Amino acid sequence: MVNGNLLSNRLLVVDDDPTLGRLIKASAESAGFEVSVTKNPTAFAEKARIWSPTVLMLDLGMPGTDGIQILRGLAEDRCSGHVTLMSGADSKVMESATQLGRARGLKMSGVLQKPVQLDALRKFLARFQVAKALLSADLAGAIETDQLFLDYQLKLDCRAARMNGVEALVRWHHPILGIIPPDQFIPLAEETDLIHKLTDWVVIAAAKQIAIWHAHNPGLEIAVNISARDVQDLSLPDRLHKHCQNAGVECASMTLELTETGAMREALQMMDVLTRLRLKGFKLSIDDFGTGFSSLVQLQNMPFSEVKIDRSFVMQMMDNEGCRAIVEIVIDLARKLGLRCVAEGVEDELTLHSLMTLKCDAAQGYHLSRPVAADRIPAFISEYQLIRGIYKAPTPPPPSPFTNAQAWRRRRAAPRHSSECATFAPLVSAEDNGMSGR
Ligand code: C2E
Ligand code: MG
Ligand code: MG
Repeated sequence: MVNGNLLSNRLLVVDDDPTLGRLIKASAESAGFEVSVTKNPTAFAEKARIWSPTVLMLDLGMPGTDGIQILRGLAEDRCSGHVTLMSGADSKVMESATQLGRARGLKMSGVLQKPVQLDALRKFLARFQVAKALLSADLAGAIETDQLFLDYQLKLDCRAARMNGVEALVRWHHPILGIIPPDQFIPLAEETDLIHKLTDWVVIAAAKQIAIWHAHNPGLEIAVNISARDVQDLSLPDRLHKHCQNAGVECASMTLELTETGAMREALQMMDVLTRLRLKGFKLSIDDFGTGFSSLVQLQNMPFSEVKIDRSFVMQMMDNEGCRAIVEIVIDLARKLGLRCVAEGVEDELTLHSLMTLKCDAAQGYHLSRPVAADRIPAFISEYQLIRGIYKAPTPPPPSPFTNAQAWRRRRAAPRHSSECATFAPLVSAEDNGMSGR
């Protein structure tokens, strides 16, 4: 059953610029939104509480007001709408504010840079129209009629240099809208109890699949994503255990990935569920690590077995000193806490090489493999082993990646000896959009 307020799109805006306010109101109304615009932050907070807007637009830079304080207020009121920031401020400030909102549990859905362009505004509003269309198409029906499917992305064991695991990633093959990525429907499922059905569906499908692969590759492991809402449900450990038993696979071959922001709330209930999952043999991973604000004490106390460094840091680690430092620290921290460390978002060979030098345990990313359909996985694993057989180690990267990273990349991109070209080249073309698209 879908919450009534989700079926209509309500937009609440606070901005001190009346011209922009009128522009947003006109565009949003023509896109079918109910709209309320105010210049007054107090009125905005009050309206957010009583009107349950689905989308909120907040000008961070209004004179005499503290946008961060408004965000805190929204979080304290458990605002469930999608929050968008508007400002002409430096993108780093906007990024920090976004992270802060997310860590407080708000659904931060993007940034509109001022001056706001009409085209950008229309595209932004269209995202929420899609969400509404998806809702009316009924996610519950999609789960029951198997419109969902899983793609799998390989994980490389850096020490053994072999593909020893996959992450299952859900997609929705919508009869009208085509293939919908998880970011567009998981939040909808999380707003209702549907997330539990969805997680059951995913774990059942993943367990059946790993049982098939185990016939030829018994060591292969599988990871599935679970939601923060799932670990609030005390029945989760028994349900997931039963799904593995029914498929004839050990819980120990399954890792449950939980995103950090969600992971760290409601600590007691979560500790109960996570501990029982571990006792049943499941491995537990903190996904997107570094994007939330978990304390190190929680990290040590919670029964996690793995930390997964968020792709935003890994993707930039060769060009951005801050990201590089975060990756190094997390690898070190994981080692000291006895946790396995996985880097996701590995998009090129230089990054992979660097992670191996830092002794990161595992790597995942488009450079190694995009998410693909299950039937392609065995061939990918064999192909990788073959490539590794003829692999000639690349020249070590220059001492300071920040000064020479671009030159290194250009050098690596230049045509080389054919056997070397086959090295760690992506196993799926760069044009692939990361979903198998059946
Ligand atoms: P995640 O668990 O962090 O999954 C990794 C995401 O990063 C995937 O996006 C994957 O396609 C993408 N990715 C992997 N390597 C690279 C890379 O080298 N570069 C870039 N730019 N991206 C890369 P996807 O499949 O769209 O999934 C997005 C998120 O949706 C997942 O993030 C996860 O939080 C959620 N999700 C996916 N499947 C499920 C599910 O079954 N249940 C739940 N609750 N959430 C799911
Ligand atoms: Mg994940
Ligand atoms: Mg992740």
